[in-house]
Amino acid sequence: MSKQDLAYWQQRAETLTIEGRAFINGQYVDAVNKQTFDCISPIDNRKLTDVAYCEQADADLAVTAARQSFDSGVWSKAAPAKRKAVMLAFADLIELHKEELALLETIDMGKPIADSLAVDLGGTLRCIRWSAEAIDKIYDEVAPTPDNELGMVTHEPCGVVAAIVPWNFPLQMASWKLGPALAAGNSVILKPSEKSPLTAIKLAALAKEAGIPDGVINVLPGYGHVIGKALALHMDIDTLVFTGSTAIAKQLMIYAGESNLKRVWSEAGGKSPNIVFADAPNLDDAAQSAAGAFCFNQGEVCTAGTRLLIEESIKDEFIAKVINAVKTWVPGNPLDPKTNVGAIVDQTQYERILGYISAGKEQGATLSTGGEAVEPVKNGYYISPTVFSDVDNKMDIAQEEIFGSVLSVLTFKDEAEAVAIANDTPYGLAAGIWTSNFSRAHKMAKAVRAGSVWVNQWDGGDMTAPFGGFKQSGNGRDKSHHAFSKYTEIKATWMKL
Ligand code: NAD
Repeated sequence: MSKQDLAYWQQRAETLTIEGRAFINGQYVDAVNKQTFDCISPIDNRKLTDVAYCEQADADLAVTAARQSFDSGVWSKAAPAKRKAVMLAFADLIELHKEELALLETIDMGKPIADSLAVDLGGTLRCIRWSAEAIDKIYDEVAPTPDNELGMVTHEPCGVVAAIVPWNFPLQMASWKLGPALAAGNSVILKPSEKSPLTAIKLAALAKEAGIPDGVINVLPGYGHVIGKALALHMDIDTLVFTGSTAIAKQLMIYAGESNLKRVWSEAGGKSPNIVFADAPNLDDAAQSAAGAFCFNQGEVCTAGTRLLIEESIKDEFIAKVINAVKTWVPGNPLDPKTNVGAIVDQTQYERILGYISAGKEQGATLSTGGEAVEPVKNGYYISPTVFSDVDNKMDIAQEEIFGSVLSVLTFKDEAEAVAIANDTPYGLAAGIWTSNFSRAHKMAKAVRAGSVWVNQWDGGDMTAPFGGFKQSGNGRDKSHHAFSKYTEIKATWMKL
């Protein structure tokens, strides 16, 4: 059987050993209350395992373990080159277990196995390795003082970091936090989404095997309003890093204010505009890219290009090209390596997406393609990619983050109108601009209020570029050396000589 066959992955899924317990102080443990919740696969609604239902008592144990490991200096005071070596060993182990992790990701949240392998595992490995390699190359500062004084500006790890992450890229979002947090010397408590806890739980054992000391990585699965809230309100957590919805990001800032003013860094939602001018270098390429921008990962992407802004003069021609391109994105069994659209993560999200599709029709948009629930695997959650044209930017489908493959097509007359529509949402995560005009590309890139701007492509960038949002898309940056600022405190030490 070849890895290109559905049967290969189905058979491996059948024989997979799945761990659902929490990981505290170097050990897998049940929740203190002994309770569990069901982990269900969206592929076919099958129960995968029981997962620990963590709450306050588990948070207390994990925070104590993390604090003790931090204060002991076993990791926090280890030489950066030592931390680097251990983290590179961690990455090597992730690579060794790549197929198992990809499979866990796919059965747990429904994304295509080909994407789990290439995108999620690829991105995770790049992030852990890049963060490890960076940490022994970063210098502190000496201030320009008079001769009889010495001023030093140094960076210290924050201490105990809680990382709360979403379900759409479970492993990759965890790695965007773990990479810089661990490299900088912090002890971490990772809280995966209740919808996709399995890869985070597996990761903990690999971290231990690589030599990351007990207490430095802890994983607490469970519900956001229970264990997530307990962490956010905890008095002994120094920094809270979050990726998830804007609504919860706001709530976390309230929790921090109600507790110990822990630093809160959030990477939140988006409703990104993809702006196509008639002078785009190649309209066929732009259409292919526009389809991928909202179909990839079932549209469950923070940066999904869900608002397509087309210059009026090419409206009909370009919509036809996009609809053609969308036809190549077809829901199928996520375990089939040929599938490019998998299952929606769970019933709640499935109903939410169908609800927005109904709202689009009711509010007067034209359904140009898709919009149907389909069932390539019995009992699973699948929806065909959906394009709405004749959308007004005031409609719900144009303003709200749906987190599914639903595209709103809008038109504009000139640059000024394109900018006005692009910026007219509460979000500011990403934007695409398609034009051959060099000056226009620069002017538009400056005018759009977004943390990432892509010209004549969608989703460009690598570990060297920071990633994060303007406005209500968040306040922090993942990736690149900028990420380290979330995981370090700055100290000024001034000496009289
Ligand atoms: P969510 O906000 O519902 O949940 C995110 C995490 O927060 C989960 O682990 C959840 O259990 C936890 N949580 C929920 N309620 C909580 C509470 N009261 N206290 C503490 N923790 C709580 O988001 P989601 O549905 O898991 O993920 C989708 C969202 O994530 C989308 O809005 C998407 O745009 C965003 N996202 C953003 C980025 C980015 O980098 N900006 C990347 C991926 C996803």
